Amino acid sequence: MNSFRYTEESLPVLEQLPQPMAVYRTKDGQVYAKVFSRGFCELFGYEETGTAVKDMNADMFRHTHPDDIPRLNAAIAKYAQQYGKFDVYYRTKRRDGVEGYRIIHATGETVDTENGERTGIVWFMDEGPFQDIPGLSEEAAFRQTLNNMLREESMIRANRYDGLTGLPGMSLFFQLAAEKKKELLQENSQPVLLFFNMSGMKHYNARNGFTEGDKLLLDFSRLLSRTFGMKNCCRIGADHFLAIGREEGLEETLDQLFRETETLNEGVSLPVHTGIYPFRIERASICLACDRAKYACDAIRMGNQSQYRYYDIGMREKAEMRHYILTHLDQALEEKWIHVYYQPIVRAVNGMVCDEEALSRWVDPELGILPPAEFIPPLEEAGIIYRLDLYVLDRVLEKIQRMERESLYVVPQSVNLSRSDFDMVDMAEEVRKRVDAAGVDRGKITIEITESVLGEDYEYMKKQILRFQEMGFRVWLDDFGSGYSSLDVLESIRFDLLKFDMSFIRKLDEGDNSKIVLTDLIKMATEMGVETVCEGVESENQAMFLREIGCAKLQGFFYERPISLETILERFREGTGMGFENPQESDYFAAIGRVNLYDLAVISGGEDSFQNVFNTLPMSIIEVQDNMVYYTRANQPYRDFMKRFFGYDLSKEGSAFPGIMEGPGSNFLRHVKECCRTGRRTFTDEMMPDGSIVHSFIRRVGVNPVTDRVAVAVAVLSVTDVMDGGIYASIARSMAAEYYHICYVNLENDRFIEYSNPNAEEEAPVENRGEHFFEVASEHAREWIHEADRERMLSRFTKENIIRGLNERGSVVETFRMTHDDQSMLVRLKITRAVPDNRYMVIGVSILG
Ligand code: C2E
Ligand code: CA
Ligand code: CA
Repeated sequence: MNSFRYTEESLPVLEQLPQPMAVYRTKDGQVYAKVFSRGFCELFGYEETGTAVKDMNADMFRHTHPDDIPRLNAAIAKYAQQYGKFDVYYRTKRRDGVEGYRIIHATGETVDTENGERTGIVWFMDEGPFQDIPGLSEEAAFRQTLNNMLREESMIRANRYDGLTGLPGMSLFFQLAAEKKKELLQENSQPVLLFFNMSGMKHYNARNGFTEGDKLLLDFSRLLSRTFGMKNCCRIGADHFLAIGREEGLEETLDQLFRETETLNEGVSLPVHTGIYPFRIERASICLACDRAKYACDAIRMGNQSQYRYYDIGMREKAEMRHYILTHLDQALEEKWIHVYYQPIVRAVNGMVCDEEALSRWVDPELGILPPAEFIPPLEEAGIIYRLDLYVLDRVLEKIQRMERESLYVVPQSVNLSRSDFDMVDMAEEVRKRVDAAGVDRGKITIEITESVLGEDYEYMKKQILRFQEMGFRVWLDDFGSGYSSLDVLESIRFDLLKFDMSFIRKLDEGDNSKIVLTDLIKMATEMGVETVCEGVESENQAMFLREIGCAKLQGFFYERPISLETILERFREGTGMGFENPQESDYFAAIGRVNLYDLAVISGGEDSFQNVFNTLPMSIIEVQDNMVYYTRANQPYRDFMKRFFGYDLSKEGSAFPGIMEGPGSNFLRHVKECCRTGRRTFTDEMMPDGSIVHSFIRRVGVNPVTDRVAVAVAVLSVTDVMDGGIYASIARSMAAEYYHICYVNLENDRFIEYSNPNAEEEAPVENRGEHFFEVASEHAREWIHEADRERMLSRFTKENIIRGLNERGSVVETFRMTHDDQSMLVRLKITRAVPDNRYMVIGVSILG
């Protein structure tokens, strides 16, 4: 059979084959070894093909059982002279000295190479150890073993056909495919080689068991034979298949195949990824075509659908680049071709750099600057990115030491880690060792882990993240929203910060919906106590919007591109760099950033805003120092409010005003100062120039330990017009003095806002919002109210009864006992209508004793 053609270029491919095989050349009736496959080296105990070739050419029979040498020699001579088939059993030892003989079944054929040389290919099969059978002579025992094996014809078949699917094995397929290719070309058809990968087989087996997995593979192999013909396909490795076919009509053929794949194994099936190598691209051997079809298949990324992809020249370039990167990493690290750049992350409330992210660049002496997209994926796939990541960490540690020496503020530095880092080394321990050895505070190193990493092996990653955090490193979730992580993830892994993927910003210009989504997510994160960064900020407008919705930190070209340490230091010396935040003030600014001022009404609110504005609470953060007042953050309703009553324009955050102590606003400012001093929450009423009364709530947020500035959060609870103001103001005033818990309920939709501070804990939120007030309240009643009063209160505390009470008597007062931590206390609850907007009711709770 002179069908298996190959060229010199297939030799390196053959060398990589896992099956034991060898290529020989015959010359003057002598046989010389040319190549041994990886499988051969493993079987016979060679380290690599070079030594095998040398060794075998020096003495082909060195390890052969002496009794078998004459037989084997005869077979080889016949083979070399007659170019016939080769089929022989013999015994041999391994070269590396492993004890005992093994029985080898060698089968071979003569083939023609493309330059016309005659060459032999031999496949070896390990038939197991040779055992002495007691009572038989050695010769007899060997023959016995052989006979047993020969009777089991299936074993020979198994060498040429796949045991599970009955498709041709790889060696047979290579021969058959070469014939088919020739045949197609003669018919003027374009041959293509296809590589199929059943995507997700590992999980499939884990979920459904191996029997089901085998059934699916068998079904798929039958489908392949139906589609391409039994002789034109093969299974290589677990869930990989090859086929040869024609290019004409290929896409329809594959569409049909994909459709049928869905119904395999009674519909419990998997998507199949297909790489296509068209032979018209260049003259390629079957081996090389397989390689390239596989490459095209591997280029298909994720996706739960069957799909195909053609091999193209770009892929070859990529393959070459990949090869270059992998073979030059050592040199790149040693000779410092890898440069680390730093991109500042800016705090929204003060516009200062609060973190920096380390990003690497490969500055190649020949190829110039390579972006991470070129060199990170190959390093990740090869599992050696940990070497780069630890190198980056080392540079970051040097940077911190350098900045400390120059007495510059050092903000936390983020380093990016990849999934495979965690497979190759104990990453948490490696990082800890280096940081501690450098004498750097662990809090100065932040670990960024991208969202896609969590997809697989969730529990393992969760453990690793926790280890980092327990050691004192912060861990951020990078690229949040780019993939499939659900919000549940955030509940079970406590990231210190969510970094919103750039795609959110890119979508902002597309319309309101994306604004609402981002706003909601940031609000949610803030409520969970997780900080937020948005990356990819490129314009002033984007920055403004993000500050407005309470995103704590911002990163993007609008502020700065990634720059080198030299540039940072140079700018610092020239005084042109961005200001770095004093780390001692970080907690203070973070506390200001955490207060959630935002409400959706700001983006949905159009011209009819006034009604809307007071449906959402105007809120702001004010900083006070000496006699100056700074509006650090304010939401849109608050800005509208200030404009209307005081004519102040707060559109630029950080606006400063002198703290007026007379006229409108003076009472308010007195309370603000009082709150700054004592840290006690207070309510104030203020008569406005137009006679209306503004009722607000003030809470201290923090004190800046460096500047002594104090930040307070302000919420405008209501504005009453002059007519009813008096009544309301007095109620409110008495309430503020008397009650420790106040709740506003909208009787139209049962939403409520409560203000309370039962533990007098400083960091408690300004307000709590909720829905379904009456349901929530009765749940609380069941839990807290003393048994003896519970039923009575539950029956009275219905919406109907309360509204009736308010209509009839103007207010509802209830006294009852509560149990809390086994202590019983007497509580009074007073409900009044909010004035003048009687859609609201106000509930005040006070403890009588
Ligand atoms: P990433 O961690 O999401 O890093 C942010 C990327 O966004 C960086 O790209 C940064 O230069 C870019 N970027 C920042 N602001 C803007 C902006 O306003 N507009 C636009 N269009 N882009 C902006 P870069 O440096 O090319 O890095 C790409 C990715 O490569 C990184 O994404 C990170 O996942 C990975 N990477 C970079 N360096 C390392 C490293 O040392 N180790 C590991 N494991 N991964 C790294
Ligand atoms: Ca990152
Ligand atoms: Ca990112």
